[in-house]
Amino acid sequence: MPMTHEAATSRPACRRGGKISLVVPVYNEGKGLAALRDALVAVMDALPYEWDCILVDDGSRDDSWAVIESISAADPRFKGLMFSRNFGKEMALTAGVEAAVGAGAVICLDADLQHPPEIIPELVAKWEEGYDIVATIREKVADYSLVKKIGSKTFYWFMRRFTDLDLPPNSTDFRLLDSKVVETLAQFTEGSRMFRGIIDWMGYKKTYISFCAPARSQGEPAYSVKKLFNLAINSFTSFSLVPLRLAGYLGLGIMAVTLPLLCVMVLANWFIGANITAIAFFTVFNTLLIGIVLCALGMMSLYIGHIHTEVVNRPLYIVRCRAGTWDGNA
Ligand code: UDP
Ligand code: MG
Repeated sequence: MPMTHEAATSRPACRRGGKISLVVPVYNEGKGLAALRDALVAVMDALPYEWDCILVDDGSRDDSWAVIESISAADPRFKGLMFSRNFGKEMALTAGVEAAVGAGAVICLDADLQHPPEIIPELVAKWEEGYDIVATIREKVADYSLVKKIGSKTFYWFMRRFTDLDLPPNSTDFRLLDSKVVETLAQFTEGSRMFRGIIDWMGYKKTYISFCAPARSQGEPAYSVKKLFNLAINSFTSFSLVPLRLAGYLGLGIMAVTLPLLCVMVLANWFIGANITAIAFFTVFNTLLIGIVLCALGMMSLYIGHIHTEVVNRPLYIVRCRAGTWDGNA
C-alpha cells in the first residue's frame, strides 16, 4: 500500500512557524475526554511548538460540555465551542478549523482516541519536511462491524471510480493542515460538505501516514449505518454528477439497441416478408420512445449539473505559492 503519494522532499526537516491547533469534534464523549486530554498533553508538550486544542461539542446529550468547561478552566490551552444542536462531525470540524485563528497548522482528530495522538509527532515531522497536508490511512480498525467495512469499501470504490478526488481507501479525518490549506478552506461555502473530500479536492502537497485504529476509548460509535449511508450519498453526489446523468446513459443504451432492431424489423418485413407481429413491432417502438424520453431527461440533467456546479460555488483555482515580488512583498 502506498504510504506516501509523493517522494519526500530533499529539504532537511526544519521547525515551521506558528502554533499548532488541535481540533476535536465531540459528541457524547464526556467519559473519555479526560483520557484524551492526558494523551494530548503528553504528546504535545514534548513538541517544540506552542499549541492549543479546540473541543467542539456537537450538541452532545451527555455531560461532554461540563467536562469541556472544567478541562478548559484548568488548562487555558484547551478551549470549547458548543453547537446549539447536533450538526454532524463535518460541521464540527469546519467550525473548529475556522476558530483556529493564527495557527501555523491545524490537526483534526477524533475524541474517542481512535486517532492515536502518539502519531502526531510523525504528522508534524512531515509538515516540517514541507508537506501542506499530512493525511492518515486507517490500516485496521478494531471495532468496525462487517456492514460498516463493506459499506466503507463500496464507498471508496465509487468515489475513486466516479469522482476526480484522490481519496485512498480508508483515509480518515485525522490529518494535519498547513495554514494555507486552512485559509483556502474558508473560501468554501458549500453547506453539504464532506470535510476530507474538500481537502483532497484542493490538491496541495500531500502525504499519507498509516496507523492501526484501536477500539473506542468508551461508549458507542455515534455514526450508525444509516447516518454513514446518508453521509456517503451526500459526499458522493457533491463530487460526482454521474447519478444525475444515469437516466441519459440509460436512454442512450436503450436507443442504441432498439433503433437498429426496429430498422431490422421493418426492413425484414418489407424485403424478405418476415412475419413480424404488430405486438413485437409496438413493443420495440415503445421501448425506443422510453429511450428517447430518458435521453431528453439526460439532456436536462446536463443543465442541472451546471446549476449544481454554480450553486456549490467552489473556488475556481487555488494558488499554492508565488514567486517574485508581489505588491512590494517578496
Ligand atoms: N462526532 C460528532 N458529531 C456526530 C457524530 C460524531 O462530532 O454527529 C464525533 C465523535 O465524537 C468522534 C468523531 O466524530 O469524535 C468520530 O465519531 P465516531 O467515533 O462515532 O465515528 P467512527 O470512529 O465510527 O468513524
Ligand atoms: Mg470512533
